[in-house]
Amino acid sequence: MTATAAPTAKYPRVQNYIGGRFVPGKGQTLEVLNPGDGSLLSQVPLSGPAELDAAVRAAAEAFPAWSARTIKDRVQIFYRYRTLLERDAAELTALIVEEHGKTRAEAEAEIAKAIELTEFACSLPQIVTGEVLEVSRGVECRTDRHPLGVVASIVPFNFPSMVPHWTFPNAIALGNCLILKPSELVPLSAGRIAELLAEAGLPAGVFSVVHGGREVVEAICDHSGIAAVSFVGSTRVAQLVYRRGTANLKRVLALGGAKNHLLVLPDADLEMTSSNVVASMSGCTGQRCMAASVMVAVGSTDHIVHRLVEHARAVVPGKNLGPVISREAKERIERFVTEAEQAGATVLLDGRSTVVPDREGGFYVGPTVLDHVRPDMAIAKEEVFGPVLAIVRAKDVDQAIAIENASTYGNAASVYTESGGLARYVTERASAGMVGVNVGVPVPREPFSFGGWNDSKYGVGDITGHGSIEFWTREKKTTTKWNREAGTNWMS
Ligand code: NAD
Repeated sequence: MTATAAPTAKYPRVQNYIGGRFVPGKGQTLEVLNPGDGSLLSQVPLSGPAELDAAVRAAAEAFPAWSARTIKDRVQIFYRYRTLLERDAAELTALIVEEHGKTRAEAEAEIAKAIELTEFACSLPQIVTGEVLEVSRGVECRTDRHPLGVVASIVPFNFPSMVPHWTFPNAIALGNCLILKPSELVPLSAGRIAELLAEAGLPAGVFSVVHGGREVVEAICDHSGIAAVSFVGSTRVAQLVYRRGTANLKRVLALGGAKNHLLVLPDADLEMTSSNVVASMSGCTGQRCMAASVMVAVGSTDHIVHRLVEHARAVVPGKNLGPVISREAKERIERFVTEAEQAGATVLLDGRSTVVPDREGGFYVGPTVLDHVRPDMAIAKEEVFGPVLAIVRAKDVDQAIAIENASTYGNAASVYTESGGLARYVTERASAGMVGVNVGVPVPREPFSFGGWNDSKYGVGDITGHGSIEFWTREKKTTTKWNREAGTNWMS
């Protein structure tokens, strides 16, 4: 009998990045798998309070010198970093494909977005200018923004590079020292980000990476040396982080899950609508918080439903559709479909039990379309996070809006119509933070801010663009009088 050798990981064990150095984590590790074929990529340390504390101390040490620089000086590093992202785009793309399973085109788009987010950080000196006004004769009030200190950013698995870029370039350019807690499912990209920031000239301690899961997240919420925490992930964990962080008197912005509704009206353009809906529900394998999840088909829209199923058939797992993140995710998504079918939904296209030849170990779910889903079914209410579209029928626009409004989430909503008046009627009434007209994934691009409503976001403000400036800084109001004539003024 021969003993089976333990599988060898493709990459060395992932390390934390603290004080400008990679340091091995202590304690347990978790396996990191390539979702495309199930192979072992690496192991990630499950760090705890001790590793976090070391990162906070290194960040606190770096903060005085970093925050004392002018913002114009600080963003020079991000100009250089942006060039390094471009230089290494192919390699960074390949890493995302491996650890996350995205198609190459989707991973390329993710790096392009990381570059765009970095460019916004480079523009901050032009935006964060403060205000000044002579409020009484000879008396002047001015405002300016100051960093908070050591801050943390906790991110999900679905964008290993883009979502970290939502937070660290702005937070750091604004003078903070940031600790990134990547998803333990996709920990590899964060290490390359740390290396490139160091190459761009970022001083040690300004950016740190601490890997792990629940234990280190709880330690972040509890650590008295951390002033603010941003979180992006599921609503369940967003609530935990928001409650625990604010109970510890921190500033917290926690973005949660989503259940996005696309309202399709009978006059919608057939080709654009049907192809857009499919791209929105299947892009990134439906693992986007902006993905179409429910299509509310209003009135006579059978022709659009028919055509979108044809478009969905052209989405082929292993070719232009990546896997979902894990075996558990695949099983959970397929369970939603089976339960909906048992509850009376019609499966128009079935992606269950998908196996990709030569990638039998991968976690694939094919594009799936269900019609005649009722709003009370779990598949219409809960986040599925896979390439699954639930079609709910509505007799008119008001019923469609009521269905959208009943969702506990509120990330995005879109309407497809050729009528400007109807589009306006829907966008005014949709209960979502990001709304589209004839746009399947209505992500507000910089300088606009990204953030939803309801159970899709807890806290004030948004995570990117203008909203991020307020979150990562505090305002100082300075009142100055140099004019002696003003001695009689009530403010003197
Ligand atoms: P997740 O909530 O499972 O994990 C997010 C982060 O929380 C990870 O870093 C993880 O390590 C940590 N975590 C997980 N369980 C925890 C626990 N019990 N206690 C403390 N920390 C915990 O989310 P995910 O599966 O990685 O990502 C997918 C989710 O993220 C979806 O719900 C998606 O809609 C959401 N998301 C939302 C947005 C948005 O902008 N609203 C953007 C991207 C993703």
